[in-house]
Amino acid sequence: MNPSLALAITTGVAALGWRFRVLTPAGAGAAILVGTVIAIRTGWPGLAALGSFFVGGSALSRLAPDPGVDLGAKGARRDSAQVVANGGAAFLGSLLPGGGLWSVVASLAVAAADTWATAGGGWSRMPPRNILSGRVVPPGSSGGVTLTGSLNAVVGALTVGGAAAFAAGRAELLWLALIVGPPGMLLDSCLGAGWQGRFHCDACDQPTERPWHRCGHRARPVAGLAWLGNDLVNAMATLVGMLAGWCAWRWFGRL
Ligand SMILES: [Zn+2]
Repeated sequence: MNPSLALAITTGVAALGWRFRVLTPAGAGAAILVGTVIAIRTGWPGLAALGSFFVGGSALSRLAPDPGVDLGAKGARRDSAQVVANGGAAFLGSLLPGGGLWSVVASLAVAAADTWATAGGGWSRMPPRNILSGRVVPPGSSGGVTLTGSLNAVVGALTVGGAAAFAAGRAELLWLALIVGPPGMLLDSCLGAGWQGRFHCDACDQPTERPWHRCGHRARPVAGLAWLGNDLVNAMATLVGMLAGWCAWRWFGRL
């Protein structure tokens, strides 16, 4: 895509995201960079995948009921770290000399599946269970899964794959998103359940997933790797999705 058109479109969408409070100012800046490069490199199909992830995921996150337990998740408004965690792998994939579109679609399918699963879990009547141990965990916990959330993950992957497939006129992009997205969300949950750092704020006697509690006190690490936060887990899962998309392009792709 023409660079000035790509910049104009992504700046307009990011400005709307900031206006509707789904992006922080720094998040909007990061979104313009990521979106412009993806649009230049992969054209309308890549931009359609990115747009459907951003619009669908943001709308759903705003509509989803609050889990009620604040474990330190940042909420529906994305900052620059979250934009990079969700879109950084797609950004890198778009720069590959071949298979950029497949890499972008697969990586965004993972990001969408995870976002939709998290939001959809809010409607679940059953409490989430830790994907590795099977134990019931508080809503909003990393690594917790629900059936409602998992079905929602499939719909999230479908929106990204469907938008790209429609824009490119290639049905295989829809299949790619469906095959890579939901398993990528499960990988994200496994990383979150197995290795993500968990903390406890002694001042408030509350569990949290952030090293600094919202009260301002430093929380004590109790489990997992203290340096491995939710953004890094998301980045790892979307990177695996991106590589899976590139491999699929190498083996089956003709785009
Ligand atoms: Zn505290």
